[in-house]
Amino acid sequence: MNTYTGVIDRYKKYLPVTSNTPVVSLCEGDTPLIYSPEISKDLGSNFKVYLKYEGLNPTGSFKDRGMTVAISKAKEERAAAVICASTGNTSASAAAYSARGSLKCVVVIPEGAIALGKLAQALVHKARVVAIRGNFDDAFTIVRKIASDYGLVLVNSINPYRIEGQKTASFEICDFLGDAPHFHFLPVGNAGNITAYWKGYKEYYSYKKITRLPKMCGFQAQGAAPIVKGKPVKKPKTIATAIKIGNPASWKQALTAKRESKGLIEAVSDNQIISAYKFLAGREGVFVEPASAASVAGLFKLKRNGFFDKVGKKEVVIVCTLTGHGLKDPQVAIKNIKSPPVVEADEKAVLKAAGI
Ligand SMILES: *Cc1c(COP(=O)(O)O)cnc(C)c1O
Repeated sequence: MNTYTGVIDRYKKYLPVTSNTPVVSLCEGDTPLIYSPEISKDLGSNFKVYLKYEGLNPTGSFKDRGMTVAISKAKEERAAAVICASTGNTSASAAAYSARGSLKCVVVIPEGAIALGKLAQALVHKARVVAIRGNFDDAFTIVRKIASDYGLVLVNSINPYRIEGQKTASFEICDFLGDAPHFHFLPVGNAGNITAYWKGYKEYYSYKKITRLPKMCGFQAQGAAPIVKGKPVKKPKTIATAIKIGNPASWKQALTAKRESKGLIEAVSDNQIISAYKFLAGREGVFVEPASAASVAGLFKLKRNGFFDKVGKKEVVIVCTLTGHGLKDPQVAIKNIKSPPVVEADEKAVLKAAGI
């Protein structure tokens, strides 16, 4: 029998919970680390590339790892309600875990800038969803103010419990590989996740569970790359809505992760993101949302720029986090892929159109 019951139960000795914490879980975490033969081969025979497929969490993104801790703690503190601003996945996750934990959930989103699947999730889980005429950064400013003025618990990633829960992804990777990877690639939006991964790796290192630390390689979308540019972006633009953020809340922590790990934070274009997105779906059978593909787009970019030329023949283990599921954002998929041909309801016509 499978007795897996979620990240709090598995990793409670590393998390800020006690036996008094009412655990609100949907069995998040325990996501697969999928070996990628195609990308590994492309990099060279001494490379091993793995995809941490976070789209397989209960609401379809890594946000669930943090949300189980944030909502459990909110319940423990007897909060009346939680609130968040969201580019989509935070609201989907907050809404689901609030439903599970019988908490009120208020969600503020930028109008028209949320992928359809994510909006459906927030609504169907009965969050009180309010769309504003503004972007994510505007929504975030508003919910911070409401949370502090009216005593609602803010469950965006500046909530330290979110980071605590999300660091369990590093633990799973190390438990699976037997050590840390040499490089960890991931998309960067509000920069909570790069902060969380780095915290997780450092903790495992301090407990001597691993013998090395990875270089953290974060990627922003070119039109929403404040950390790369060194200043906030007023009107962020990118097809990857989950990382369309102009003023990341965990900016400083992201820079710390980069500096301490001797890693990097760079930008990838929307074209590079879509090309990696298609590669993952078409060649590896892994369907992710556009933002998630920024990690692999970044890996391809570094490879092309000769970043790995110096490693020689020693083994290099790379993990790319794929942050969310492709079904979240079917509109982007449909828009970027050729539509199927339409033929008469006739066997011959079907064979011909299918190229058989
Ligand atoms: C939230 C999110 C990101 C960005 O993560 P941050 O912690 O904000 O940097 C990337 N991809 C997806 C699918 C997300 O939901």
